[in-house]
Amino acid sequence: MPPTNQLVDLDCRELWKELVNYMEGGLTPGMRERIQLHLRGCRQCQSVYDGSSNVVRLLGDKKAIELPQGFSQRLHARLVQSGAPRH
Ligand SMILES: [Zn+2]
Repeated sequence: MPPTNQLVDLDCRELWKELVNYMEGGLTPGMRERIQLHLRGCRQCQSVYDGSSNVVRLLGDKKAIELPQGFSQRLHARLVQSGAPRH
């Protein structure tokens, strides 16, 4: 089916890169808005976001959110394994 991305100018992979920053609240309001918009229109990224926010919540139970380096790389690796499309 054709992608309905007229409103979504953010690339999925770009979003994954920014997702950690997004969850940490470290992005500009404009960027957060773009991510929210993309999440609303992209099921794949929604499930990534859901999975990631679980991780962040778990980490947040212990102390202030402090994601390990390489988190987004592992996230990406998991996505690739789970069959996310690659180009
Ligand atoms: Zn997406």
